This record gives sequence, structure tokens and C-alpha cells, in this order.
Amino acid sequence: MIDAARLKDEFLELVSIASPSRREGAIARRLEGILKRMGGSVEVDGAGEQVGGDTGNVFARFPGNTPGALAFLLSGHMDTVGPADAIRPLVEGDVVRTDGTSVLGGDDKAGVVAILEAIRVLRERSIPHGDLEVVLTICEENGLLGAKHFDTGRLRARRGLVLDVDGVCELITRAPAANRLTFTVQGLAAHAGICPEQGMSAIRIASEAIAAMKLGRLDAETTANLGIIQGGLAGNIVPASVTVRGETRSLSTEKLLAQTEHMQRCFEEAAARYSVRVGERKYQASVAAQVDRQYNRLDVRDDAAIVRLVQSGARAMGRSCATRGTGGGSDANVFAERGLEVANLACGMREIHTVNEWVHVPDLVLTAGLVLETVRVNGAV
Ligand SMILES: [Zn+2]
Repeated sequence: MIDAARLKDEFLELVSIASPSRREGAIARRLEGILKRMGGSVEVDGAGEQVGGDTGNVFARFPGNTPGALAFLLSGHMDTVGPADAIRPLVEGDVVRTDGTSVLGGDDKAGVVAILEAIRVLRERSIPHGDLEVVLTICEENGLLGAKHFDTGRLRARRGLVLDVDGVCELITRAPAANRLTFTVQGLAAHAGICPEQGMSAIRIASEAIAAMKLGRLDAETTANLGIIQGGLAGNIVPASVTVRGETRSLSTEKLLAQTEHMQRCFEEAAARYSVRVGERKYQASVAAQVDRQYNRLDVRDDAAIVRLVQSGARAMGRSCATRGTGGGSDANVFAERGLEVANLACGMREIHTVNEWVHVPDLVLTAGLVLETVRVNGAV
């Protein structure tokens, strides 16, 4: 039932509209037009002003055609990571990739076109369904900012799907909670040649802290990384200050808190070892830690209604759809935190966040079909 040629054309059109985070204006206007022409009522919310972008989230509603059928949410994101200033998709048979100078942006336009095509077919063929609510977010790649600023109180749907993960016919039901961490180590500046003993090197203190720290993959559920280090002024100055930024994630909230505490403690213990007396005054090295919860975990049980719906939809297509966990967050984490029963459906994107990104068009067709069947099963409940 899915129109593969129409789906491919729409995918090529949408990926050709560059939409890096905070500059989703052009794609939002295009999608607004498409959704309206499909018969949806469409609004753009105020999230753009709140995050400093050029558009808000696009929110569309399609009325159901089956009394009593439950409303269903379908969501994807409009923004892409870079490089994405100009995107020239290349088509080789059924594979779409780029010319190697940019990402493709199949993350997440593969998800967006699957949503659009599924709704189109549902309406064209008058397939029974409840109200459909479509949320196309901004700034997903920038800390899920669009979803965080979307008023989920406006949704009638209590369950639905985010389409935003690589692979096909797989359902992400577990995703980590994440903390963003910033540690600022304060030492003391001194002339490196004349009186280094009157200084405390913030770089050395940070190094000791980091050397004592568990990082990388800590267990099957937990990871930690320090990704940015900035500090010091010159080769001949004992550095007074250094800032280290990183993160930790875990499918277990307890492990997330424990790892956060561990990283903080490593910095505090290293700083505590350093003090210096200069004249009458004693200086103690110190560290300031800032911990921000980026998002909470996604944890949908395998017997949850949304999982059963997708798996019934897959069976109707003669397929199966396994659940799995992932180490990445998505807008699904935000919707789940707000009390919606959502999972993240794989939508055919491949080698995402690289200039080698590609999609296989039959995967897009399969995904759109699975969305259609899931909505149909939901409408029959
Ligand atoms: Zn994505």
C-alpha cells in the first residue's frame, strides 16, 4: 500500500533542505505545507524563541475516522547534525547517500517521511484509525531542546512512537538517563620559571583526578566520558584554572548517580591534596562541579501496550520487531518522562552523524508500512 516512489521523492526533497539545529525554519515551513495539504490542522509552537532558533516545533492533528479508537502520537525531529550547510543527495539504485561533504540527514528525515507516508495512505484508503497527532521537533540534536519545550499537555494521545534510531523493524524500549558534567578546577597562578612553588597547577590537579577516574564503558548499562578540556594561559604561567566537560549515562538511575558522585569525588580528592602558602596567606585548590540532568531514562516493559501494538503490526506484515536498549537518548525519553507510553522505532537511517550516512529506500518503505499497520491495530483496539 505504501507508495515507494512517492516516499523516495519526498525523502530526497526533504533531505535536500538543510536543517541544522536552530535553523529548521525552511524545513518547518515545507512540512507545515505538506501536513496542511494532507488535511491536518497545523501549528508551530513557541519553542523556537525559547531556544534561540528560527522556528518552533510543528504540531499537526488529523482527526480519527473510527469512534472510540485511541489517539496516537507520531514524532520525529526536523534538525540534523552537521556538516549540513548544503546537502546534495546521490541516488545509486535504491541507496541514497551524500557526495561526502555533508551528512545526509536521514537522521531524522527517514523517520519524518515514514510518518507522512503512513498517514497519507491511512487517509487515502480510509483505514480505521483514531486521532493522529504529529510532533516534529526542533533541536533534538541539541539536548532534546525542542521536545523539552513542547507542551505535552496539548496531546490527547497517551501513547505513540518516536521514529529516530538506526536499523529497521526494531523497537527501542530502553534508553539511558544522562547527566552533563562540568568541573572547574581552581589552582593558583605563578611565574613558571621564577616561583612555580607559589602556584598550584590546575592542569596537574585535573590530570590526577582524571587518571583516577573510571571512564568509557563501565558496564553493559553505564558509560562515562570527558570530552572537552580547556584551561591555562601560557607556557610560562602555572595554570590557575581548567574546565573539564563530560557526561555519564546509564540505563540505571542508581548507577548514573553513583558514577556522577565518583567523578566528582575524584576531582575533590585531587584538589584536596594541593595547597600552598604565599607569604602570610594559605591557598587551597578547589573544584566546582555542575551536574545537569539532560534527560531521564526510557524504560518500557516488553508487555506494554505500545510494544504489543508494534509487534502486532509487524506480524500483520509477516515480520517481527524485537525490542532492545540503546546508549543514546531521544525525544522519546522526554515524552516518557511526561507520562506518555512511547518507544523509539528504527526507521532505516544508517551510519548516522557521519558524512557516510545512507539509507536503503526499501527500509523506508518497510518502516512506513509498519507505522501504518501499528496505527491500524491501534484503531482496531
Ligand atoms: Zn535523530
